[in-house]
Amino acid sequence: MPEDCLFCTLVREGTHVNAADGLVAIEDINPQAPVHILVLPERHVDTFREIGAFGDVEAKRMLEFVAETARKAGLTDYRVVVNVGAEAGQTVFHLHWHILGGRPMGETL
Ligand code: AMP
Ligand code: ZN
Repeated sequence: MPEDCLFCTLVREGTHVNAADGLVAIEDINPQAPVHILVLPERHVDTFREIGAFGDVEAKRMLEFVAETARKAGLTDYRVVVNVGAEAGQTVFHLHWHILGGRPMGETL
């Protein structure tokens, strides 16, 4: 757990809109949609490239937690985004899943 990782800090001390074993969800500080939630595994993994660091059960639970968090936020239609690496727009190097919704999301990538 890198001491200087923002999301490790928010896992410990942030305001969580949803939480379950090893997973938390927070509101994005700079929302790109009416609902913009980030799902973070408590365990520090730099990027989605290292998704294999999670076991089968853990990985499945993480995906189910993304869906459950969206449902609890009142969303039925939404986008799930993971930026992988700086050139793809990743700015925080602790794996996280963006949930974006609350308006039609189909118009752009
Ligand atoms: P990414 O660019 O995919 O790495 O996503 C990082 C996200 O973290 C961005 O959407 C930021 O708005 C968000 N973010 C940065 N700092 C905070 C913070 N303190 N609390 C909540 N979200 C944050
Ligand atoms: Zn971290």
